[in-house]
This record gives sequence, structure tokens and C-alpha cells, in this order.
Amino acid sequence: MNKIELNKRQEHILRIVKENGPITGESIAEQLHLTRATLRPDLAILTMAGFLEARPRVGYFYSGKTGTQLLTDNLSKLYVKDFQSIPVVVSDSISVYDAICTMFLEDVGTLFVVDQHAHLVGVLSRKDLLRASIGKQDLTTIPVNIIMTRMPNIAMCMKEDLIIEVAKKLIEKQIDALPVVKQTESGYEVTGRITKTNITKALVSLATEEI
Ligand code: ADP
Repeated sequence: MNKIELNKRQEHILRIVKENGPITGESIAEQLHLTRATLRPDLAILTMAGFLEARPRVGYFYSGKTGTQLLTDNLSKLYVKDFQSIPVVVSDSISVYDAICTMFLEDVGTLFVVDQHAHLVGVLSRKDLLRASIGKQDLTTIPVNIIMTRMPNIAMCMKEDLIIEVAKKLIEKQIDALPVVKQTESGYEVTGRITKTNITKALVSLATEEI
């Protein structure tokens, strides 16, 4: 795995290209007293990371991109479909008691509620269930559909959406998770779940994935 941090030789290559670019791989190798083959992996890393650009028959030149620009470039390659989790879905006719059991058994913080056609109709968070549990009422007789957050107030996303867009929505709405949905003629089917944990994993991938 290549960290975004560059090694000494890569820094040296960058300096050479900055001063002499466009420059061929051959010429860079000569200046470093190395073979072209030895340099190949470094050039590949620098090109893939966006520090250098390569033009056939011209050579390498310095992209001039700053760390922030490169980070933005890389963020715009992270999609929901690559980081989503499996959704935990319950029927709108189950009780608050059963929803609490499901939340513990499935080890999630958000449940998505669907109707008999498997269309998204609501969201249940930990606090929704806690709130419904205050007092002495029998939780087995309260249906979740009277306490859930319901359509059309549900924030959703699609698998082709960017992770950064989801992150912005989570912050703006002050929520922990979004259902990943597929639109059909009659409603939305839930195909995934994206939470703050998935966003954290995406962030870590930026620092440790091959670049
Ligand atoms: P918690 O209640 O554990 O703090 P959240 O911050 O996710 O969890 O939920 C806060 C409120 O927002 C709850 O009432 C919940 O029903 C609602 N909510 C959670 N996710 C969504 C969503 N994707 N769209 C709309 N409302 C949501």
C-alpha cells in the first residue's frame, strides 16, 4: 500500500520534472543515475496521485496541483456504492418492542421501515425508540408507524451519489444514516444504508488506498 506521503526519490523526481518538464522518463532516469525500469513504479505513483501528468511522445510535466486540489480530485472518486452497508428493514406493522429487539439483534442504529410493497415509508432512530419507551405504556401494542419519521421527510441517496454529498446531507439534517434507494414507478426500494461509520471508512481509504 502506498501512503500519500512521498518518499525521497519521488520528491526528487518531482523537483526534476518541475524544473525541466516536459521531460521523458529516460532523461529523468539519467539525471538520477538509475534505470528507466527502476523508476517506473515511482512515475506510476506520481502520475496516478495527480502530481505529474504524462503525455505520449512529450513526456512528464508537473501538474501544479496543490494537496487540497488533489484531495478534492480524490474525494470526487468516492461513491456510495463502494462504501454502503446492508440495510436493516422492518415492516410498518411491527411494534416498537420488536423494533427495539431488531435494532439490538442487527447491531444498527437506524432501521428503515417499509410497507407491504417493500417501499420505504419511514425511518426509526435510537432516540425515536427511546422516546416511545418513556412512560408505562405497553411497547408491544404501539406500532412503529406512529412514532417513525415518515415520507416525504426522509433524506435519501442513490448508489451513484458521491460520498461527499452524503456527508453534507448528514451534517445538514443532523442525522446518522441515509437509506440508499432505487426509484421505481410506485415508490422507493431500499437497497443499502450509509452511516457516519461508512463515511469514516471512506475518509480512511483516502489516506491508505493505492493511489
Ligand atoms: P438518534 O435519534 O439516535 O440521535 P439520528 O440523529 O439519526 O439518530 O436521528 C434523529 C432524528 O432524525 C430521528 O427522529 C430520526 O427518525 C430522524 N432521521 C434519521 N435518519 C433520517 C433520514 N435519513 N431522513 C429523515 N429523518 C431521519
